[in-house]
Amino acid sequence: MPSPSHQTLRADAVVIGTGAGGAPVAAALAAAGLEVIALEAGPRLSSADFTGREGEMLARLMTVGISQKSGMELYAGSCVGGSTVVNDALCWRTPPEVLQSWRRQYGLTGLASTRFGLYVDRVWRQIHAEPTDRSHLNRNAHMLAVGAARLGWAASAMHRSVRGCVNLGLCNLGCPSGAKQSTLLTYVPEAEKRGARILADVRAVRVEVGEGAVRAVEALRLSPETRAPVASLRIETPRVCVAAGVLGTGALLLRSGLGGGGGDAPVGRGLQFHSSAYVTARFREPIHGFYGPTMSYAVTEFADVNGRRGPGFMLENVSTAQVTTAAGLPGFGAEHERAMRALPHLARAVVVLRDRTRGRVSLDGSGNGTARFEYDPVPEDRLRMREGIRALARVYLAAGAEEIYLPVNGLAPVRDEADLAALDHLDLDPHRLSLLYAVHLFGGAAMGGRRATSCCNEDGAFWGVRRLWVSDAAALPSNTGVNPQVTIMANALRVADAIAETA
Ligand SMILES: Cc1cc2nc3c(=O)[nH]c(=O)nc-3n(C[C@H](O)[C@H](O)[C@H](O)COP(=O)(O)OP(=O)(O)OC[C@H]3O[C@@H](n4cnc5c(N)ncnc54)[C@H](O)[C@@H]3O)c2cc1C
Ligand code: SF4
Repeated sequence: MPSPSHQTLRADAVVIGTGAGGAPVAAALAAAGLEVIALEAGPRLSSADFTGREGEMLARLMTVGISQKSGMELYAGSCVGGSTVVNDALCWRTPPEVLQSWRRQYGLTGLASTRFGLYVDRVWRQIHAEPTDRSHLNRNAHMLAVGAARLGWAASAMHRSVRGCVNLGLCNLGCPSGAKQSTLLTYVPEAEKRGARILADVRAVRVEVGEGAVRAVEALRLSPETRAPVASLRIETPRVCVAAGVLGTGALLLRSGLGGGGGDAPVGRGLQFHSSAYVTARFREPIHGFYGPTMSYAVTEFADVNGRRGPGFMLENVSTAQVTTAAGLPGFGAEHERAMRALPHLARAVVVLRDRTRGRVSLDGSGNGTARFEYDPVPEDRLRMREGIRALARVYLAAGAEEIYLPVNGLAPVRDEADLAALDHLDLDPHRLSLLYAVHLFGGAAMGGRRATSCCNEDGAFWGVRRLWVSDAAALPSNTGVNPQVTIMANALRVADAIAETA
């Protein structure tokens, strides 16, 4: 008899992670008739559990990784539904330039074909991506629109995956009304309807491989209260699909002894993000940027995708929720307090940079399999981030802001165009910024046409290990220049089709 603290299960397929890259695979494989178990390290919460209390929900739903030298903060969801539970519901189709570069540079012909567009269409319908109409554009979005229009810059409302949004402004804390179509409300229930089992509070520790093929997944059950391991679990299975997100997938593969020991799969290498920094503006009139969709409007003038040939950044409005606004503002003490006292009058947006930097995830050497991230923005990205910050400040000046807080420590608030000269010649080393972060994370187990330079083939199948796949953002070979959840889900459905063919 096994001890009560250890359990063995069996399944036709195990999916690790239930976010954008995992839940669609679980649903598709269950629909194909496979007995599926999906493991999720985080807890399972429902709309009724989403209290809207910022501190509590951020702690329960999110995880953060810190890049070693730069101190850059990397955020992801950690619950059933993954980052889709805490994201802003924004939807973009994969830009054609990105698909072309994946074909040219990485040999991913399947993604460049029109067939990939059909997967995108399926996701678009399933998560109900719809245009954001005027009734959902709050004054925060409006200020970006006004400034961009006065400057003559390209800008538009974005699509969002919602059904009946009631403007609560809590998208990053789990949508309490159930309007946001995260995988928690779409692919996860679909998978369960078809018989898949979703095991929440279960962290995969390693994938067991024997004689070149997948054998099992070893995992730990976590206490829902303390998050400490309370039991071990082994799931014997001939198929494993890893979708633990960029903060989880590379480290899990390395813990499993895959790709890290001088083998040819460059696991953990090639991370690429969309570096992000906030600019905050105070207006005379109230903005109330904490109500309404957290994000909805984008200045696309400087993008380098979807037909634009700019330096490669977008400017997108973001919520002025208290905790994150306070954390992103520069300054301390009385100066910080003065800015925060004006919270109802603050508008806020983020520079979303399409980085050229590459980074790496490895294990930290402590022996407990903890991930260590290295991501140091290259000079070219620091320069482009500076131009993004300048452009965003100009939008707010054009919209009539009284004062603008740049995310740069030690810089006085900006009141007119002349003040922006303070940015000239400034090297935006990450430590000069009040907060440099990323929520669009890519790579670490990238697909590619050549085994020497990639971890998986273009179906997401891990080179050299039979019946092991990667289907999340870690499998993408570069960033996308647009918010990525639709691309990740579409690719996951494509990988799922390849897995189902082995049944
Ligand atoms: C705050 C925020 C806002 C965003 N806004 C948008 C947006 O509006 N539009 C957009 O397109 N994109 C947005 N994104 C990005 C998008 O949500 C992610 O790119 C996408 O969800 C990543 O998919 P994934 O499957 O790679 O990882 P995730 O969706 O993060 O899923 C990974 C899952 O794996 C689990 N996991 C990790 N390790 C293990 C393990 N060892 N065992 C078991 N489970 C494990 C995690 O808990 C997590 O649930 C946002 C992201 C964040 C964090
Ligand atoms: S703004 Fe809309 S989508 Fe966001 S939490 Fe509120 S109801 Fe949900």
